[in-house]
Parts: sequence; structure tokens; C-alpha cells
Amino acid sequence: MEKIVALCKRRGFVFQNSEIYGGQNGFWDYGPLGTELKRNVRNSWYHDMVSAHNELLQPGDAPSKYQMVGVETALIMHPQVWKCSGHYDLFHDMMVDCRETRSRFRLDQVRIRWVSCDGQSIKQENTDAELTRIAVATTEEDFSEDLVVQALRAFGMKKKYAGKLQWDGSATTLDQIEVSEFCDVVAPGATKAGTLTDPREFNLMMKTIIGALGTDDDAAYLRPETAQGIFVNFKNVADSSRVKLPFGICQVGKSFRNEITPRNFTFRSREFEQMEIEFFCRPDASPGWYTYWRDRRYQWYLDLGISKDRLILRDHHAAELAHYSVGTADIEYAFPFLDEGEYGELEGIAHRGDFDLRSHMEGKLTKDENGELVPELNEHGQPRHRGSGKDLSYFDDQAKERFIPHVIEPSAGADRATLAFLCEAYHEDQQPDEKGKLQERLVMKFHPRLAPVKAAVFPLIKKEGMPEKAAEVFGALKAAGLNCQYDQQGTIGRRYRRQDEIGTPYCITIDGDTLTDGTVTIRDRDTLVQERIPADRVAEEVTARLNS
Ligand code: ATP
Repeated sequence: MEKIVALCKRRGFVFQNSEIYGGQNGFWDYGPLGTELKRNVRNSWYHDMVSAHNELLQPGDAPSKYQMVGVETALIMHPQVWKCSGHYDLFHDMMVDCRETRSRFRLDQVRIRWVSCDGQSIKQENTDAELTRIAVATTEEDFSEDLVVQALRAFGMKKKYAGKLQWDGSATTLDQIEVSEFCDVVAPGATKAGTLTDPREFNLMMKTIIGALGTDDDAAYLRPETAQGIFVNFKNVADSSRVKLPFGICQVGKSFRNEITPRNFTFRSREFEQMEIEFFCRPDASPGWYTYWRDRRYQWYLDLGISKDRLILRDHHAAELAHYSVGTADIEYAFPFLDEGEYGELEGIAHRGDFDLRSHMEGKLTKDENGELVPELNEHGQPRHRGSGKDLSYFDDQAKERFIPHVIEPSAGADRATLAFLCEAYHEDQQPDEKGKLQERLVMKFHPRLAPVKAAVFPLIKKEGMPEKAAEVFGALKAAGLNCQYDQQGTIGRRYRRQDEIGTPYCITIDGDTLTDGTVTIRDRDTLVQERIPADRVAEEVTARLNS
């Protein structure tokens, strides 16, 4: 992962936000290549899910098709939206503070493991107690090794005594033990046991103030997801665009969450971009559509080059499901910053029933004693959070039925997908240089659709009319709308290396033969095969190869 982060900075994929002022934790900036890469991720998603979408309703059911349309809604919405959606009351993480290191952690992100060490002991904060059995803690994603380091440090033992550690059970997380056991936990980086506070709730929505008065009544929130912008516009879209059920509304845009511990490069940021679909369908058809979207979204990552061994589709256990959900599955990727066998979420596909549309009609919902969703009431017997009171039902004019559609929600993160594509692309191999000597090569094997630069043009030497011919080829590629680079510095081998490092699929060299027979070489990044093609057909050929 360190190599990938270093490459991102060196070649201009991702920079730390406000770096010259020391950075701003949880925020990232994309450089020229990262901007192209992320734009290609976002555009591929929008192209495949919306613009080029042309799916048949059922196999063999031509010619009826379901439609996918886009919206772009504001980052700030009416505060009542978040009250009815549940974010105002429920969108929090449990956090805990360490009194010794003054750090704050998310409870479920602190890994702990019980350990003792040959009768060695450690002090407990504010007591005279010397503990011989403690739980050591870490927030590192590759936690196994770090737990050993923490345990040795806690007991004041050298590395060579790691064998003396007696582990009790396997690693778990802080939210899995009783708060009464916190007095035996040595927090990450702490020297004593028992320095953690009791857990507290922390709402993840970012607050802001609208208008000049600046009172609490003017408080609003930056959206923590793009989905609610779709739900509140369901009726507008249905009434204005003549879509018929089933149909999908899609949105790509920024979301904000006040993450307690942003980390793992862009994986967990406080500002990030989502690519979300709300697919509205008849309640009786929703289980089928859930399976359909779960499989289709998984395949999307494979089609763009993620390998099957690093991508899993994980169905949530019944206990993990939100109360309104029939099913939820996560698409997860084996990011290199995770421990062996651990995966990080790229996308969640959730069956949300009619929960969202009903909440915006009736107010915040809760489950009654029979398991039915009903409006949540306050101590005066009135709705705790009032809904819009608007009718968000749908009239099916073929079945002559009115109902509230059910929703399938594939919700993906553009930054997490971009990071997964960056990690997947990273390869090191060895290739012979001009003298036949093997040289280390760093090559980013991006899918051609995602590659930030599609082609590079090199005149072999800076004279004999080659730069002029190269400029012509470069101009034709640009005119075809392809992002390409022109490079005449250094040996051809070095120019190839520079392009391999940023994942350019094709390099085109203009040489002596170009001037006599009008052909150039085109070199493929992955196969390294070089072929001669007519110079005046380069743009056509590159476009065809990119689309093949
Ligand atoms: P996590 O459990 O990792 O916090 P989540 O389950 O809260 O994620 P969702 O609310 O389902 O995430 O959001 C949908 C998608 O948005 C996620 O799959 C992820 O790709 C992206 N996402 C969510 N939070 C962040 C974040 N802090 N930084 C970057 N991307 C995020």
C-alpha cells in the first residue's frame, strides 16, 4: 500500500488536501491523472447504468424495457429530510476516548486481544492494581502484527520475547466486550490499562448554518448520502419523465460524513463521492430485482478488471439487516492495507422495501410489537418527526392498482472504487531494456476504459521531420477526444517506463520508416507486442482497441 500511495503522489493521482498547510485529515485532492481516472470510473458507471442502459424487462420479454434516469440534487436538503430518513436520530457511531493519549476511536474499529506474559504486569490507571492479564488494542487494519507489538510494549518486553506472550482467544473488537472490562484494556499507544472512557454516540452528519442569522434554527446538514435527494424527487421524476415502473433513478455526487477516524488513504474520508441507484419496482417483484442488481453490480467490477480472487459478494446475516430490509449484500475488495482474509466495502446493495418513500409521507417509522412499520410517536402521542404528508404512491395503470413501490438500492463509492482500481492495477515485473538487461518495471494495468491516458506519442529522434509527423498523429488522437501525451525526452525505453507507470495502454512511435512508408509502431502495455500500422489510421486503431 505504501508503494501505491507513493506512486499516487509522485505521478499526480492523489494529493493530501491542503498539504502546504500540513494537510486536513479525512480530505483528499485528486491530481491531473487521478482526476482523469476518477472521471473514467464515474463516467463508466453512468454510461453502463444510465446512458447506454438498454436492458430487457425479462429475458425474452421484448420489446418492453425498463428505464434508468439521472438526477443531480443539492448537497443541502431540508432538515426534515434527515429526521424522517432516520439519519438525525440513528446515524451515529459509538466512540470512545483515551484519557492518556487524548485520542478518539470508533468502538468497532479498535481491535483487541487478551494476553498475558509470564507473570509480567502493567499498571491500571488510578488504582494501585498491577494486571497480569490485559487486552491490548490497535486500530491498524493489519492488526495481527500490531497486536504483538502493542503487547510487547505494554509488558516492556523486547521483540525476541514475542514467544512468551500467551494469547487468550482470538482478536475481537471493543464493541464486543462489556464496558466493565474496559479497565483491563490498554488503549492503542497507551502505557496504562483502563484509560478509556465509557462509549458515547457521535452523529456523523456535518452541520452547517444557512443564512446570516446563524441561530440553531438555521442549522442544516451536508448530505451524508445522495439517496435522499432521489427519494424526495420520486414523484417529480415519475410525473415529469413518463417513466413506468420498474425504473431506476441514479445520482453521482459528493457526500459528507464526520468520520471519527478517517483512514486508509481515500477509503474512509470525510468528503467522498457516491454513485447511487434507487430502483423502484412492484413489491411482489422486489426479491427478483434484488438478486438481479446484486449480481449485475458485482459483474460490473469484474468487467472493469477487478480479479475474482480479490472481490467478494457478501450477504448480510439476518442480524445485520436493517429492520425494513429483506436482504443486503456488500461487494467487498481485498485492499492491500487489510489483514489477510479481510475485505473492505466497495458497495452495498440493499432491499429497502417501502421504508424511504413511506417515511417521507408519514414521518419517521419504527417497528411495532407485531413487526409492522408504524410512525414513531413522542411522549405526547404525536409523530416524533412529521413526514411531508404528500402522497408518494404510484398508480400502475395496467394492473389498475395504487401502491408504494419497493426499492432496491445499489450504493457505491466512487473514491473507494477508484482506490480498488488503483490497487488492482499495480504490478511490478521485469523487462529487458535496449541492451537486453532485465530491468524492474512498474506497470499500472488499468482497464483501457479507466486508463487516465489512452495513448502516448513519441518521435524516435527530435529531427528528420519526426517531431512534425508525431505532432500530426498526436493532433488526430486529441481530435478523436482521447487523452494522450506527447513525449520526446530520453530513450524510447525510458519513455515506455514513464507511460507504463501511469498505465497508458498504447504507445505510438514515429521512426525513420514512418517517413518512407507512412507507418508507425503501436506498442501494447500488457502484451508488449509492437505492430506497424498506418500513421493516418492511429486514432481509429486506438479507438477500436480501447472499445474492443
Ligand atoms: P462503512 O461501513 O465502510 O462506513 P457504510 O456501510 O456506512 O460504509 P453506506 O452508507 O452503505 O456505507 O454508503 C455506500 C457507499 O459509500 C459505501 O459502500 C462506500 O463505497 C461509500 N462510502 C461510505 N462512507 C465512506 C467514506 N467515509 N469514505 C469513502 N467512501 C465512503
